[in-house]
Amino acid sequence: MNARPPSAVIRHAYIHVPFCPSICPYCDFHVLERRGDQVARYLTRLDEEARELGQRYDVQLETLYLGGGTPSFLRDDEMKALVASVRAHLGWGRLENTLEINPGTVSPARAALWRELGFDRASVGIQSLDDATLRFLGRQHTAQTARDAVTELLAAGFRVSGDLITAVAGQPLERDIEGLVALGVEHVSAYTLTIEPGTPFARRGVEVDEDDERRGFEQTETLLTGAGFERYEISNYARTPGAHSRHNRAYWTGEYFLGLGPGGAGFYPPIQSRDAPTSQDRGQPLPFRRTNPHLHEWLTGAQGEAELLSPGDVATDSFFMGLRLREGVHLPTVSRRSGLDVLAHYGEVIDDQIGRGLLERSGEYLRATPQGWWQLNSVVAALMERDSEAETLSP
Ligand code: SF4
Repeated sequence: MNARPPSAVIRHAYIHVPFCPSICPYCDFHVLERRGDQVARYLTRLDEEARELGQRYDVQLETLYLGGGTPSFLRDDEMKALVASVRAHLGWGRLENTLEINPGTVSPARAALWRELGFDRASVGIQSLDDATLRFLGRQHTAQTARDAVTELLAAGFRVSGDLITAVAGQPLERDIEGLVALGVEHVSAYTLTIEPGTPFARRGVEVDEDDERRGFEQTETLLTGAGFERYEISNYARTPGAHSRHNRAYWTGEYFLGLGPGGAGFYPPIQSRDAPTSQDRGQPLPFRRTNPHLHEWLTGAQGEAELLSPGDVATDSFFMGLRLREGVHLPTVSRRSGLDVLAHYGEVIDDQIGRGLLERSGEYLRATPQGWWQLNSVVAALMERDSEAETLSP
């Protein structure tokens, strides 16, 4: 067994389940339809991966997120085997354990089983409560299936979050949001439809109208905040502070997390062991990201390349993720994590963005204004540019 590094506790884990009943034309995730003995081989490899990570790191889980793909598409015996592996090697989340759920896979008996296995939060891929919009998105469920699924999950005692896609041409967004609110979900994740290269939508030339995009971005906030939800993150709304996603907060605030399963991405603390990635040129251990390869390769035990993060990477990642939160990023934390004095390093760019009305300071926090949220990519690009300038100037 490898020596455990000091103060390298990992409190969060993401597990990717790549199987889906069918593939939606806008989907850009690592997904596939199940074939032959793929799921059995997936479960065997996942058990090994969980054991390896449990041995390598000091894992004390607070949150666990089973995402995909469609994890709820696993059959009951498969789900039991997956949960047994995770519990045996990594333990279980002390605060929150989320299962991503496709409405078409829910029944009262299955909801009860998932609760018994230890999941307490359901993230349900509702996307819309309008049948024509669902058909356009290539979803297999109807609005009624989604309503029934949420009702059954709430009855089983789940905290329920509903996913919503906005900016679909002709979508009755107001009705969608009113319907979601009426269902009693405590949380909504609202994402703009994006056409990613290589997807069936991209091949068919589907486009998202910029006005629809802007309307979706603004109208979602107006309607949900009007219904008593707080927009606590650029795409996420909660009925109460207790309804925030604790797992996703770990991403937004730069915590370490394990990434298991094919295509699963993790963020790891610097480790000092023979097989750990090193940074000889910088002479210091660096945290790193690692994204697992896709199923075929992952089943052979292959791991993705470790991507070492320089101090500038750590800082700009923190801005990129932290500025998504309403409260913004805590600047002293970014300085401590990255080893950079962020105000000295990025001060000029930050002041410029404040002058343009895109960022604002509030005590030790730096946060995006509503306009800054809309232009978040360009705000972060300006910060990253500061790093490339610094690298070009340094000898
Ligand atoms: S259900 Fe979700 S993960 Fe599966 S193909 Fe559709 S969008 Fe992708």
